[in-house]
Amino acid sequence: MSLILIVLIGVLSFSACQEKTEPLSITFIINGDIEEYAVVDIANFESVTFEDYDKTQLEGYRLSNIFDSIKTLSDQNWLMITSKDKISARIEYDSIHLVYIVIDEGKLNIKAPEHPRLVGVKDIKDITVISKKEIDSGLKIIDDDTLNISYGTVKLMLYEQTAENYSKGNVAYKHTPRDDVKVMDLTQKEQNIIYLDNKDIIKDKNDGFLVWEEGLLCYKKDNKLYKGVFGIVAGLDTVLFDAYYDMKDALKQDKVMFILVDGFSYQQAEYYHEDLQLLNTGYILVASVHPAISNVALASMLTGVSPYENGIVKREVKPPKVGDIFEYALSQGKKVKYIEGNSTLITTSIQPILNAPDIDGFTDANVFNSARTALEDELDLIFIHFHGIDDINHEYSPISTQAKAKILEIENYIIELKEAFNGTVIILSDHGSITYSDSDNKPKGKHGYFEKEDMIVPYYIFE
Ligand SMILES: [Zn+2]
Repeated sequence: MSLILIVLIGVLSFSACQEKTEPLSITFIINGDIEEYAVVDIANFESVTFEDYDKTQLEGYRLSNIFDSIKTLSDQNWLMITSKDKISARIEYDSIHLVYIVIDEGKLNIKAPEHPRLVGVKDIKDITVISKKEIDSGLKIIDDDTLNISYGTVKLMLYEQTAENYSKGNVAYKHTPRDDVKVMDLTQKEQNIIYLDNKDIIKDKNDGFLVWEEGLLCYKKDNKLYKGVFGIVAGLDTVLFDAYYDMKDALKQDKVMFILVDGFSYQQAEYYHEDLQLLNTGYILVASVHPAISNVALASMLTGVSPYENGIVKREVKPPKVGDIFEYALSQGKKVKYIEGNSTLITTSIQPILNAPDIDGFTDANVFNSARTALEDELDLIFIHFHGIDDINHEYSPISTQAKAKILEIENYIIELKEAFNGTVIILSDHGSITYSDSDNKPKGKHGYFEKEDMIVPYYIFE
């Protein structure tokens, strides 16, 4: 919803630039550390009369009235008022009852007679609430831990303070955009993976910049603007969808067995290191997609592109917008099979071979048997999906005796399949699992929340 409004405003201001006779939009954006990004139409508010610096009477809109409906995430804030040409003034949030918006030639200008003159920003674009305290909301960064920086704080980082003035007991700071802030300045890592609100994923190799545009945190690279940065995985350069290209490359000279180990997290690979025989070595860490859920992740690894590009962005069974690895393999005259659990997760170009759960309620043993049988067919590509670890993680949490037993069971299947297969074996998980306590205080597992535990997974290639 918010994105649609932003696009609309973008279009409005663009057309306004082209044809000077068109009436200008009299909206602006309130964003930053608030509950919901807001597009404010000044026409919805009642004007008041106030005195300007020179005692002339003006008509305007008290900023504090406009902010009555805005819920801030913190009780101590700055307010940053930014013009269309990005010149900004920052004041104390608590002083906004002294600030007015006036309409002048179709533009929204600030009048603040009790503040230093630099607060008189002309042609405002957005007003950003900046929490003075750390808050539990904002841009999510996955590094050694999962942390977040409030969007207000990030905006402030993207601007340079160029003046500090006082008037009648009120302070104001002038800020101008820096346009030279790299992702590395936030993460201290040369490689980063950028996640956007629209579910696109961009790799940053210290070659792009963070900027504030259209009231949103954006990433800019090669003159392309990616709007709405939602999260960053720091220090990694591989995403699930890279597996598509690894399968493709391997298929050029070899037979390929791809084993998808649903829900197996990097944390489990580390925690059960001593108990594992195969899955404890030779892996790299890769980033999942967001949301880190099975069908979205599966679509990404089968198509080689982000959820935004393949169109599978939530839990629904449909065909991706781009071709999958099976389609490619078949086009190369390869012999292909896809072994699934008991249901299809997305619509693939070939029908998966489905496997019912056995008496213990899991499909893994049947998936294994099905894969063993399929291998007798001298396949070029076999894609095998084991679901049990994810099911167990949900029920008992990823660090539990039940999870350990399931991981070792599936590892045994993998070892046996790998021994029976003469070719490249690729093993990848789709997402991990976050431990939480349910209402009975029992440990459970969940995923899809953009935390380190659900976003980072191990990736193995045995050639
Ligand atoms: Zn899954």
